[in-house]
Amino acid sequence: MCRHLAWLGRPRTLAALVLEPPSSLLVQSYAPRRQRYGTVNADGWGVGFFAAGRARPARWRSARPLWGDPSFASVAPVLSSGCVVAAVRSATVGMPLEESAVAPFTDGRWLLSHNGRVDRAVLPPVRDAESTVDSALLAALVFDRGLDALGDVVREVGAADPGARLNLLAADGTRLLATTWGDTLSALVTPDGTALASEPWDDDPRWTDVPDHSLVEVTPDGLTLTPLR
Ligand code: GLN
Repeated sequence: MCRHLAWLGRPRTLAALVLEPPSSLLVQSYAPRRQRYGTVNADGWGVGFFAAGRARPARWRSARPLWGDPSFASVAPVLSSGCVVAAVRSATVGMPLEESAVAPFTDGRWLLSHNGRVDRAVLPPVRDAESTVDSALLAALVFDRGLDALGDVVREVGAADPGARLNLLAADGTRLLATTWGDTLSALVTPDGTALASEPWDDDPRWTDVPDHSLVEVTPDGLTLTPLR
């Protein structure tokens, strides 16, 4: 994924989170402002969200560009959630182009998106990966190890592949977890909730940049940052 975002807070419509802001994920799919790798994110999009009263996330993914999906645009204003992960994809060279290769991935409980790349040869064998794309194998490894080991997994994979970029973003309905490892991430903490995004979706002066090599945890009580080296 080349651009992703997450929200934890008061319910917002998927349109308000993904489509409507001036530099929304939709705009980032064709005109990202801070993207270092790739120029457009046209190889698919995905949104996962937790609906009230349901522990398991719902997910809508597509291998088409987000700007070419009028059905999602018509439904997004009436879908609301207080915990969302969304992503637009710029496929790494050699990776499969299919819906199952698009984030967010899930183990039925967590949603997880990967912005970056990793040499698949350094990853241990995993069961239940949704696709052969590097990001799905990495997601399956994180799910296997448990999200409490997210920082350890990123450190280990980063050591095994020094060229890896490992910006991960995960949610389980009650908290967000994220890592920065080679790419950008910004945070917006407001009285209504907290957003994490590869790049700010508007010019709100409260957006702050997360330092590279960080582990981020967001709960209803706030945001904590831990250095990952
Ligand atoms: N490597 C992943 C893919 O091919 C993610 C790519 C990215 O972050 N641009 O989908």
